[in-house]
Amino acid sequence: MSYKNFTVETNEDGVALITWDMPEKSMNVINMTVMEELDAIIDQVAGDEAIKGAIITSGKSAFSGGADLTMLEGLLREFHKRQGKDAEAAAKALFDGSRKLSQVYRKLETCGKPFVAAVSGTCMGGGTEMALACHGRIVDEGLKMGLPEVKVGLFPGAGGTQRVMRMTDAQQGLQFLLQGRTLRAPQAKQMKLVDEVVSTRKLVAAAKKMLKTGLDPVKDWDKKGYKLPNGKVYSPAGFQFWPAANAIYRRETYDNYPGARYLLRSVVEGLQMPMDLALQIESRYFAKVLQTPEASNMIRSLFVSMQELNKLARRPADQRPNKIKKVGILGAGFMGAGIAHVTAQAGIDVVLIDRDQAAADKGKTHSEELMNKAIKRGRSSEEDKARLLSRIEATADYDALGDCDLVIEAVFEDREIKKTVTEQAEAVMKSRAIFASNTSTLPITSLAEASKRPKNFIGIHFFSPVEKMMLVEVILGRRTSDRALSMALDYIKAIKKTPIVVNDSRGFYTSRVVMTYIREGLMMLADGVPAAMIENAGKMAGMPVGPLSLGDEVALDLAWKIVSATRKDLGVKYVEGPLDNILEEMVVKRERFGRKNGKGFYDYNGKEKSLWPGLTDVTGQPKPADSFNIEELKLRLLVMQALETARIFEEKCLTDVREADVGSILGFGFAPYSGGTLSYIDTMGTPAFVEICKKFARKWGPRFKPSKLLREMAKENQSFYSSFPPGNDVRKKDAA
Ligand code: NAD
Repeated sequence: MSYKNFTVETNEDGVALITWDMPEKSMNVINMTVMEELDAIIDQVAGDEAIKGAIITSGKSAFSGGADLTMLEGLLREFHKRQGKDAEAAAKALFDGSRKLSQVYRKLETCGKPFVAAVSGTCMGGGTEMALACHGRIVDEGLKMGLPEVKVGLFPGAGGTQRVMRMTDAQQGLQFLLQGRTLRAPQAKQMKLVDEVVSTRKLVAAAKKMLKTGLDPVKDWDKKGYKLPNGKVYSPAGFQFWPAANAIYRRETYDNYPGARYLLRSVVEGLQMPMDLALQIESRYFAKVLQTPEASNMIRSLFVSMQELNKLARRPADQRPNKIKKVGILGAGFMGAGIAHVTAQAGIDVVLIDRDQAAADKGKTHSEELMNKAIKRGRSSEEDKARLLSRIEATADYDALGDCDLVIEAVFEDREIKKTVTEQAEAVMKSRAIFASNTSTLPITSLAEASKRPKNFIGIHFFSPVEKMMLVEVILGRRTSDRALSMALDYIKAIKKTPIVVNDSRGFYTSRVVMTYIREGLMMLADGVPAAMIENAGKMAGMPVGPLSLGDEVALDLAWKIVSATRKDLGVKYVEGPLDNILEEMVVKRERFGRKNGKGFYDYNGKEKSLWPGLTDVTGQPKPADSFNIEELKLRLLVMQALETARIFEEKCLTDVREADVGSILGFGFAPYSGGTLSYIDTMGTPAFVEICKKFARKWGPRFKPSKLLREMAKENQSFYSSFPPGNDVRKKDAA
């Protein structure tokens, strides 16, 4: 039999070697055809007497990236189409469709012949579940194994929740499932999720040996008298563990994620049942999760849109690919050093410039320290370190920029200094080279005034810490050319980050929204809300940190500088508020700048921090906590950010709904379960959103006034995604 995605070869010992190697794909994924073919292969193995056992391996360097989630999107689309006509039939079709993979794996597990998964490199989601369904697992040293489904609003629905919890310690298993973490080989082995770790070369041989020594084709849990590793759910040990597990789940998620909620239920209920019933329970919850707006929104933003942006959906089609061999970085400080590191990591040569040699060297030391850490953790080698460091030339000499294709400045946030370095760099750069600024707030068009080649001038805004943050915001100045845009995007792809492209304005998209979050926290302080309650409201709403904490991270003196600069730029139009007083008092009078000088809204002691007890001297005594409604505080924090996003969209600074959503989650951690700032509005519905804005405007101030576009959309009950379908490029140069 021949298959499109697999080859099956049987040797004289009766071992079928199944090699998964999807044509025209760099990574094996699970789609409809893969499922059907695997199903047929299991029949073939089970039905052929000459075959004693089978090995599943990959023909690529990695095993699998997991299921192609567009398949689930298709199932959901069909479900919503049919739901209005026949709800029951629609639900059944969704249940049947979404459990197919689970059934194929169960068939593999119970077909009577032993299967060994020989896994190399990345093995994610449905790929991991396939390996877990096999009777033995041999992996290579480069294994990265995970079930990251919770991160896109789902949970592992092809047996993952049931098998993990029957194979490993309950606490470790549950953490692995709930956090969607990636395991390396030693940890996966310690957790008993894999049997043996060998070098890549020896994978198949070790799998053959395993089969030869007689691998039982019946799993323990399908045998009489099976006992769970941690005992029954309803047992003295279970009474200790499960209530605590539920508490931890609540602490981690604030019950915002239906994927995690139903995962826990599926585990607790499934563990009380024999495997077939347990898998049915898992499938029921899986179909239920699929129908939640959180899952649809997260799949759309964090899988579909993110993939499209990573493939440079916004790249001008007529631009030829750019070769980026060398990148210059001006300013080897906090950001410059990070940018140098990720650039060198991508195999690109770097010239790292600062005011003097010592400062430039200090920036390079950052890479050395990062590499030392990676080596210590076994993630890198001395050779990798030497190679990476050899790519970074630290210098104070601008002449070194002569052969750079792209120069990124990350000097102080000061117009004059930025002007000077732009002129100095341009004097030696190739005429076709592109100059980018990493400014967080200064409009690109105004910075480009210092340039002789404004067409080659663009904003490439990184987030800190550069090594960890996946988003990069590209800003188009009024005269930025498509070639400059294509260069910026090609560069971001090369360093494996996700780009969004916005038009110019003060604060662009992300910084502008982040400032509204921090500002709302400050306004709450001014309203008399206790600081701890503000912070908790932020976290309960799904933000990674509370607004005061974020203010400390961004730096309060920077916030004060931005407020002062905005006030200066806007002149009489600037409306002063209570927040100005709090910031001025904190920064100017008390020199509390935030984490960077160890004192802000919090006091810092190493990694420990606690709210500053003296805060009430600045804000006055807070009102009692029960005079505020926590739900309303949560809503205030999210609505303010979504509203600001809608305004930015209306001003055409943002032009693509996907970028608004992906940018908000990756850039500032906007409640990921919502799918992002605009999905948040769409899910609530524009009429409901506008009503809340109006109510808040009356109660908390005009900053909540809904914008014109929102009011118009609400009148017609329109959504952002239907009114502005993704890909509808409305780049407006005159918006700058
Ligand atoms: P930083 O103070 O850590 O680093 C700035 C570096 O620029 C210093 O090493 C300084 O010596 C160097 N420098 C100053 N004048 C110079 C000159 N004439 N020639 C060469 N080097 C010069 O600042 P940072 O936090 O890295 O910020 C740099 C830029 O990145 C700013 O525009 C900032 O707004 C932006 N940014 C910062 C963050 C953040 O979180 N810190 C995030 C995004 C963007």
